[in-house]
Amino acid sequence: MGFLQGKRALITGIASQRSIANGIAEAMHREGAELAFTYQNDKLRTRVEDVAGKTGSDIVLPLDVTDDAQIEALASALERRWSEGFDILVHAIAFAPREAIAGEFLEGLDRKAFAMAHDISAYSLAALAKATRPMLARRGHGAILTLSYLGAERALKNYNVMGVAKASLEATVRYLALNLGPEGTRVNAISAGPIKTLAAAGIGGFRQILGHVEDNAPLRRNVTIEDVGNAAAFLCSDLAAGITGEVTYVDCGYNILGMTGID
Ligand code: NAD
Repeated sequence: MGFLQGKRALITGIASQRSIANGIAEAMHREGAELAFTYQNDKLRTRVEDVAGKTGSDIVLPLDVTDDAQIEALASALERRWSEGFDILVHAIAFAPREAIAGEFLEGLDRKAFAMAHDISAYSLAALAKATRPMLARRGHGAILTLSYLGAERALKNYNVMGVAKASLEATVRYLALNLGPEGTRVNAISAGPIKTLAAAGIGGFRQILGHVEDNAPLRRNVTIEDVGNAAAFLCSDLAAGITGEVTYVDCGYNILGMTGID
């Protein structure tokens, strides 16, 4: 029996087979969770339906997090499908305009790009937590998980406004953990190492980043979506019942390094 047997999980953020959310869905399905999925737009719908089908799920709902009406509609649809509530919310959503995540921080920066990165990548976590709060509380041991990156706490070339938005996301994790803890809901983030996905392809110099991590991380490799999926399944399970408000690194140890490239 898997360690997520009897749990119900909502998975956001699948855009392709390579999506981190896909790795999380596979791990949670393997551990026995019942899954529901969201897709950002009609272009992605079939892809998400394919992933859902492989996990035996027919709950596939639209969600563009910039639209409050869609967040409300998602919560209502879930209430209908899962009236006894659900246990796990996976937030794997981020976006910044391409010009704002390549080159100089100030060169690509404007008010719109800053606001959009924060709205889609950080505010959306709080908005989804708010909309699903009663359903997560109903079963008494809810778990919310989001995805962050080292650029939240270190200044990394090209990551720019997304790093600032990830810092906001990690602070949001702590405030949500404080807010929701009394009702039994835990809130955590995984800070994942770089993985080649559609979102990552927009970050300037991404191929170089992958090579650098492979050469220098203590484990001398990059992480996979399976690595992140397994850690996510653990953090959202009762095995992690005492962990909340944390950012857990799943990055082959890269974050512990002080200086790289010295022989
Ligand atoms: P991905 O492109 O597969 O997933 C990003 C998802 O965000 C897509 O499914 C997309 O549909 C969704 N999204 C964007 N705007 C949205 C909106 N307005 N409404 C709803 N959904 C929207 O890429 P990924 O790398 O799997 O990204 C998942 C998460 O992991 C992101 O938060 C990303 O920042 C984070 N992360 C990625 C890496 C990496 O190297 N790939 C590393 C650390 C953290």
